[in-house]
Amino acid sequence: MPSPIAHFSLIIFFRPNVRHGGGWTGWRRATFVLGIVFALMAPDIDVLFGLLAGECVGMFHNGFTHSLFCAIIFAAIFAIVGRMLWPLAWVTIFRYAMCAYCSHVIMDALVWNSRGVQMFWPLTGVRVVSPIPIFLGVRHSVGAPVWVHLVTAGTELLFAVAVWLVCRMVRDRSRACSAGAANGEN
Ligand SMILES: [Zn+2]
Repeated sequence: MPSPIAHFSLIIFFRPNVRHGGGWTGWRRATFVLGIVFALMAPDIDVLFGLLAGECVGMFHNGFTHSLFCAIIFAAIFAIVGRMLWPLAWVTIFRYAMCAYCSHVIMDALVWNSRGVQMFWPLTGVRVVSPIPIFLGVRHSVGAPVWVHLVTAGTELLFAVAVWLVCRMVRDRSRACSAGAANGEN
């Protein structure tokens, strides 16, 4: 799997939505950000299963919690709780949760030489892995040397920068379109 650097870098895509809640109190913004952070990493709750079973943390990793089915269940619960916290429509919160959760599942499938994720559980337990990897991934379980972890961290920092640049480009383009439309109206 990619490290949290890559997973958390996507939170920037949710930033406009935090800004959109300009009238929110501090705790609302804080809980929203924490909620999205949680949703971005939620599939990895399966590492606890290994600990609870007295096995290694990777025993049940990338299993059924990394499925689209679990994403829907998670997003529904997330939306019910989120509706009590934030002045957003249920379907909007559901969409945020789905995007965050599914981004994690897809990114885990994009790791080089990984065992893949059970993306389509319970229809099939087959593990899905992309033939075109993007991430080197974290390799604790194989006892990789330190330099491999450094390469992983370095490439994922580059990924985070690329995400930031794309987000900024989209935002600037959107602002330019809005300004153009406003000028056209005048
Ligand atoms: Zn994962």
